[in-house]
Amino acid sequence: MNNLLPTPFTFSQSSIQDFDDCPRRFHLRYIERLDYPAVESEPALENERRQQQGQAFHRLAQQYLGGIPAGRLAPLANSADLKRWWENFLALDLSHLTERWAELTLSAPLDDSRLLAKFDLVGRTAEGRFEIYDWKTYQRRPRNDRLTARWQTRLYRSLLLRAGSSLNGGQPIPAENVAMVYWFAEFPGEPARLAATSAQATRDWDALEKMVEEIRARREFPPTDDTARCSYCAYRSYCDRGVQAGQGEPDTDDPEPIEIDLEQIQEIEF
Ligand code: SF4
Repeated sequence: MNNLLPTPFTFSQSSIQDFDDCPRRFHLRYIERLDYPAVESEPALENERRQQQGQAFHRLAQQYLGGIPAGRLAPLANSADLKRWWENFLALDLSHLTERWAELTLSAPLDDSRLLAKFDLVGRTAEGRFEIYDWKTYQRRPRNDRLTARWQTRLYRSLLLRAGSSLNGGQPIPAENVAMVYWFAEFPGEPARLAATSAQATRDWDALEKMVEEIRARREFPPTDDTARCSYCAYRSYCDRGVQAGQGEPDTDDPEPIEIDLEQIQEIEF
């Protein structure tokens, strides 16, 4: 099997996480570019509804942070879930962030590939500390060690450090001044604040380089041995891994699309 990744290929946290979870899923999604043939978990309608609600919540947050008054947006929180998440979000105190960039996209080259991240919110305090916010509508609050290990955490912090100097007056951002904050709409009092260190930043970048190199060198993309992952995978009908989906929710609700709008990239080479 040939690796048909175009050059440059743009890696997002979703594509890297897909490869790490299951190389075959990466191949089906990003090389064969197959549409989702099945919903990710059952009951199907309930899961689809939650995904749509999660995306609607992200749009509300984006519009609010873009300057639309809360009163004009309130009618759009038109379900019990959305109303609860919206009220929790409005109570979130972001006043310590004296500068904010919502829906910011940063990209940086890595060998003959690109890394890309689209941030829900990046904020800077008066003291020059940066916080990367990501809104999650999970039904369960993941453990911090799982969040720390997520490729999203490693990629987002790395790209802010590598490509975010324009947010810091043109100066490099010290790793110790960066934290990733996962804020959970269902658990507003339990955010996960994952601060970076320079040693961690070096490990993160090394891991990203190694992972991208491994993906590019791949000629075969076998299915995962962890069949539990298949329960929530939309591609299971291609893999003879069952027709019935798992109960509950997969460990993601990111509304990041497969197609990425490169026109929106704010790119600073390094
Ligand atoms: S069903 Fe399982 S083996 Fe197939 S792509 Fe999904 S996770 Fe991988």
